[in-house]
Amino acid sequence: MIEPVLEDIKQYVYENEHIEACGLLSLERGRIKWNPCENKAENPKNDFIIDPLDYKAVADKGDVVGVIHSHPGTTPEPSQLDRAACDRLGIPWYIFGENDKWIKLEPKESTYGLLGRPFVYGVYDCFTIVKDYYEDYDINIFPYSYEWEFWEKGKNLYLENFEKEGFIKVTDGTLQTNDLILMALNSEITNHAGIYVGRGKMLHHAPNRLSCRDNYNGIWKQITRMTVRHKSMT
Ligand SMILES: [Zn+2]
Repeated sequence: MIEPVLEDIKQYVYENEHIEACGLLSLERGRIKWNPCENKAENPKNDFIIDPLDYKAVADKGDVVGVIHSHPGTTPEPSQLDRAACDRLGIPWYIFGENDKWIKLEPKESTYGLLGRPFVYGVYDCFTIVKDYYEDYDINIFPYSYEWEFWEKGKNLYLENFEKEGFIKVTDGTLQTNDLILMALNSEITNHAGIYVGRGKMLHHAPNRLSCRDNYNGIWKQITRMTVRHKSMT
C-alpha cells in the first residue's frame, strides 16, 4: 500500500535525518497520500508526537491507513511504545531506520479492557484510562498530546483542561460514582487521575503498575487535590 509514496517518504526522512520524521498515510478518493506532520515532541531526536489536530485534519479528508516515523541513525526495530501504540490505533505503522531500511508493523488485536493494562506512557496511562472510561458514557475527552513528566515542564494537563472538557469542581465534599479524582503523585503538580467507581474503590493507572481498582483511602486520599464531576452526571 505504501509503494506509490515510498520514495517521497524516504526523501522526507532524509531531509529530516536528525529527528524522528513523522507523518500519516491516508486513503483519499481511492489514492494513497503521504501527509508529513510536524514532530511536536519536546525531544524530537528520540520521540515523536503528531498533534491530534493534524491527525484530525488528515482524517477529515480521508481515511488514515498508516502512521509513519523514523529512527534517526539506527535500526527500524520497533520500541515497546511503538508496538503498543500500533496495536491501540489498529492501523499499520511504518518505521524507517538508517540506510533506507524500513519495516511495517501490523497491529495485533488489542485485548486490554480497563483492568490489567501494562503501563506504556501515552498509550496506556492514567490519562488514557480516564479517556476510555468516560467514552463508555458518551463523554469524549479530547486526545491531548502530552509528554512524560509534563508536570516538570510547566504543563498542567488536568487542571488546565478539566473545565473545557465539561467537568466541574466538587466543592461540597461529596464523592459519587464516576467522579474524577485529581491527585499529585510524587510531585507538586496535579499529575495523576483516577475514577471513583463506588464502594470505596478508585480505578486508575499508576506508573509501573497494571491498571487496577485500588481502595480509595490512605495515600491516595492524602495526595488528592481536587474532585471533579462531569456536568452530565451532576
Ligand atoms: Zn519508534
